[in-house]
Amino acid sequence: MNAIPQTTSWHERARTLSFRTQAFIDGRYLDAASGATFDTINPATGKLLARVAAGDEEDINRAVDCARAAFRKGVWANLAPAKRRKILLRFAEAILKHTEELALLETLDMGKPISDSLKIDIPGAARCLQWYAEAIDKVYDQVAPTGAGALALITREPMGVVGAIVPWNYPLLMAAWKIAPILAAGNSLVLKPSEKSPLTALRVAELAVEAGVPAGVLNVVPGFGQTAGKALALHMDVDCIAFTGSTATGRMIMQYAGQSNLKRVSLECGGKSPNIVLADYPDLDKAASAAADAIFSNQGEMCSAGSRLLLQEGIKEAVLEKVQALSRKRPPGDPLDPATQLGAIVDETQMKRVLGYIEAGRRDGASIRVGGRRVREDSGGYFIEPTVFEGVKPAMTIAREEIFGPVLSAITFRTVDEAIEIANDVIYGLASAVWTRDVTTAHRVARALRAGTVYVNCYDADDLTVPFGGFKQSGMGRDKSLHALEKYTELKTTWIDLS
Ligand code: NAD
Repeated sequence: MNAIPQTTSWHERARTLSFRTQAFIDGRYLDAASGATFDTINPATGKLLARVAAGDEEDINRAVDCARAAFRKGVWANLAPAKRRKILLRFAEAILKHTEELALLETLDMGKPISDSLKIDIPGAARCLQWYAEAIDKVYDQVAPTGAGALALITREPMGVVGAIVPWNYPLLMAAWKIAPILAAGNSLVLKPSEKSPLTALRVAELAVEAGVPAGVLNVVPGFGQTAGKALALHMDVDCIAFTGSTATGRMIMQYAGQSNLKRVSLECGGKSPNIVLADYPDLDKAASAAADAIFSNQGEMCSAGSRLLLQEGIKEAVLEKVQALSRKRPPGDPLDPATQLGAIVDETQMKRVLGYIEAGRRDGASIRVGGRRVREDSGGYFIEPTVFEGVKPAMTIAREEIFGPVLSAITFRTVDEAIEIANDVIYGLASAVWTRDVTTAHRVARALRAGTVYVNCYDADDLTVPFGGFKQSGMGRDKSLHALEKYTELKTTWIDLS
């Protein structure tokens, strides 16, 4: 990529940027049937960006009908996988071609630094589409070892109409983790982006059609969770819901499935991930730097954030000193400044929620080592300093609940067993990490941690080849890797009598 344009040029571009604000159904942009809209706000200024169609049950019904019609016609499901590959690769190319526009949309809509949108979110979304496009004509079905008198084929078929409901923290990237395997497998899709960040999903929908995805196969209905999201999850003709969001909403999605057609549900929910540093780990600079990245990247708005830093007695002071110094190097800044590493919190509600947790930490007796305040108030935006609590006890609210902001809870422990017990003693089980030079300890702790991912001597290592998802109330099912295809396909056995 060329050098990142400077701040002024991003502000200039923002002034002339146009937004797609209507729902995208059957290959066309449409107002909500009710005509209603909702405001999408720039969290860096508190100002209105655009008014977006507020889809509700009627729009969801329309989108599901179109998705079903496309599926029945087989315009996508019956295409040879190699043809779907070509089209999805063109879709990925189109996203890459529009990287700067999409990055700007993402940053304006949810407040993350423009350099992150350019380097992580948009290329990551394109890469995900490429990966599943490349995979889909290379996965084989099976023949069961039944014996000579029969032939039993075990094949995977697309589910049909999949509904995807996604959050705002990585709006396009989380959508891509759904779109790519869902479409690669031959399904039709109705995507409901978060009401806090609908703009990139709405824009890429038309890029998909331009790339050759047939109309009706990828539909995007913006709107609120309680209306559009609920209608999608309750819909009798949706075969599967792929959800990413909070555990509280995930719980409701399962109920909606039970109340309607027992649609398959996969959930990627919240986390409160432990990052354990043992005293034998020799490179505390590396561990501290990873610990800071694990909680302050993306403003801490990461499901896998290493929000609990478990430090063995003896190294606590050394690590916290380094984390404190690193936190000072990333003051919240204008998200359109390419030098900014910590942007705005997504909206006022979330900012107040995070500040409420900071207050709870104080009240419960933890002490603030650094940060703890709202800053840049003059901008009209929602900014919170990187915050580190020390003296946190495992029973405190800030050690148990997902804050989803730049707030780290440091807890000390004496023995490895105690660390494991503290690490596992929350309702979540998304990610976890252990830092040690001892290979036996590393394996022992990795086995004992109840989490979908365990990092050893690293944090947030990432590749499309590995599944991502949670144990316990962090969800069920996995995004990424070939395993994600299992969520969006039905397994069929076909017996052929050869006698
Ligand atoms: P959220 O649960 O509030 O919303 C997620 C989505 O669900 C949004 O599109 C929202 O409109 C919709 N929704 C809300 N209520 C609904 C309802 N009653 N019926 C149907 N849909 C409804 O979560 P959020 O605040 O957008 O995102 C933050 C959460 O997402 C955090 O808990 C984070 O850990 C989680 N997350 C998890 C992963 C993962 O891979 N495990 C990835 C990113 C984010």
